[in-house]
Amino acid sequence: MSQALELSLTCPQCGTEFSAEAHTIVDMANEADSEALWQLQNGTLNKIECPNCKTAGIIPVPLLLNNPEKELLVVFAPGATQMDEMQLSELISPVLQPYLGNLPEEKQAEYMFKPIISDDPTVLQRAALGEINAEDIMGDASEYADEEDFEDGEGGEPELSAEEQQDLTERMGLLQQLFQANDSLERISLMRAHAQLVDDLYLEVIGLITSQAQDAQPDLIPTLQKMMNEAEVFIASNKM
Ligand SMILES: [Zn+2]
Repeated sequence: MSQALELSLTCPQCGTEFSAEAHTIVDMANEADSEALWQLQNGTLNKIECPNCKTAGIIPVPLLLNNPEKELLVVFAPGATQMDEMQLSELISPVLQPYLGNLPEEKQAEYMFKPIISDDPTVLQRAALGEINAEDIMGDASEYADEEDFEDGEGGEPELSAEEQQDLTERMGLLQQLFQANDSLERISLMRAHAQLVDDLYLEVIGLITSQAQDAQPDLIPTLQKMMNEAEVFIASNKM
């Protein structure tokens, strides 16, 4: 069932009030969603324009896409990278939980319980076009399994046990890989492939590197902050 909300909006530019229809679910398994899917593929879904001053924008509601052929469930969550776990859960649960709850059992699949959360509308658009495969997102975990060396072996604190040292080393390695990624989609793939490393300790590692970069390489700070936010979103979405 195509799900659309009738919303009252106020133009941030001129204050004109108007109503608009916002889609929150596009299910590629459902014929009824084909028009919404077409709009999503064209980048016009949930796009609005103020009738008075013509200011254009995207309605800031979460939007869920199910692509069964690619085994992908992607949720667009506007502003997700600025949110903590609780805020993110409050934003997407009203869309995600009823969707999963109303799905007949024979249509439920494992991938649906590992949704990909992104605040980048192009990720959703590319998933709708079938340009993203589950493997792209999941990554290939074996690919990096035996790759242990990386340039600056940080964190040689003497009080750490060998095991703790190893934990840190692995997370530093992941951070380094994420630095080489081109965009947030690639970073999400890498985090998926190394999901067991994306935890509270990983957040601490980013925090540590961020504080070291303050003086040494301040130009890295925005990227580090982005990576921190993405990791927080990733951890939050894996808990749902
Ligand atoms: Zn306006």
